[in-house]
Amino acid sequence: MSNQSLESLFNYTPHEIQQWLKERGHPAYRAKQLLQWIYQRRAASFDEMTDLSKPLRDELQGAFSITVPPVRARQEDSADGTVKCLFELRDGECVEAVLMPRYGDGAKTDPRTGAVKNRKKIKTQGYTTCITTQVGCMFACRFCASGQMGLKRNMTADEIIAQVMAFHRSEPSLSRIVFMGTGEPLHNYDHLKRAIDILTDPSGPGFSPRRITVSTVGLAPEIYRMAKEGWKVKLAVSLHATTDAKRAEIIPLARSYQLDQLKDAILYYQRSNGRRISLEYLMLGGVNDSRKDAERLLRFCEGFLCHVTLIPYNAVSKSEFRSSSQERMQLFKDCLRRGKIDATVRYSRGRNIDAACGQLRLRHEREQAA
Ligand code: SAH
Repeated sequence: MSNQSLESLFNYTPHEIQQWLKERGHPAYRAKQLLQWIYQRRAASFDEMTDLSKPLRDELQGAFSITVPPVRARQEDSADGTVKCLFELRDGECVEAVLMPRYGDGAKTDPRTGAVKNRKKIKTQGYTTCITTQVGCMFACRFCASGQMGLKRNMTADEIIAQVMAFHRSEPSLSRIVFMGTGEPLHNYDHLKRAIDILTDPSGPGFSPRRITVSTVGLAPEIYRMAKEGWKVKLAVSLHATTDAKRAEIIPLARSYQLDQLKDAILYYQRSNGRRISLEYLMLGGVNDSRKDAERLLRFCEGFLCHVTLIPYNAVSKSEFRSSSQERMQLFKDCLRRGKIDATVRYSRGRNIDAACGQLRLRHEREQAA
């Protein structure tokens, strides 16, 4: 049987792995060993698992795969060490994911080029990966490359986890996961939940839910559902505008959920687990970056614990938008800070390698089609 037709073991919770082994008469400690090999020692094949008996390894090999998807394109930004990979899924669809080193507060970044000063000499503080949850996206935000492709399909839990493991195998200090790649994570709720349950299981990969961020365009019903189901991850909301009219102009979904409904959902989530909410605000020159916008944003932030991340717009091809200027972003940030809101500008990582979501895949598809 080829690897392709085997079920991915990444789709199994540690409990289900224990059950599978138990049903076949293996002692309980085998599950512990197997999980250690997969997630702590990050083995790439069952053959490596030398303290499992050969018959058990053969049994596992005949039933499961632990392969990660092949890399079809790879780009590295030498300015900041960001690596972006285009992974090919079983059905030939390609998705992109990013690995970013973290340098800590002391590191100096050039805001124009994104270059981290003396990068090679600074010790990294671990790695963050930005993961994709859907092939394409149906929400068609006007500024986003992913929306140009429409939604092809949801990704399964094992496909989501396999991206993390692809990076984790080469980078043991990968400790943070952000679901900010292509797609709308909450539109793929069930698979995402399963993936996060497995990734945070202490008997499995054991990632801390405190170090996982789920970014949403603002699906209010799913935010309530997260709260009711006891999710512990950090919630990031792509706000991007401070009036319903402006938001609906750039994010079509905003016609369904108005800002006050979104705020109610955010408050509900915060009350359920006390976590600070991250508000993402794309800085679009002349569109949403006025002083009035900053004041309205301050009012939106009243009543809950939040942090605002201002994101310079990363131009995608044929875009009608441009990023706000440095000065404008600074004024905007100062206004928020004067209002006692914690605000930072997130200079996009890997800006020299099409790092805005969907850009690498779009380019790859165009090249294939040419
Ligand atoms: N659908 C989710 C997650 C994917 S996008 C969401 O909307 O949050 C992750 C973030 O990148 C979002 O805040 C999105 O608005 C932002 N983004 C999309 N295109 C961008 C671009 N060209 N430049 C900068 N940020 C962009």
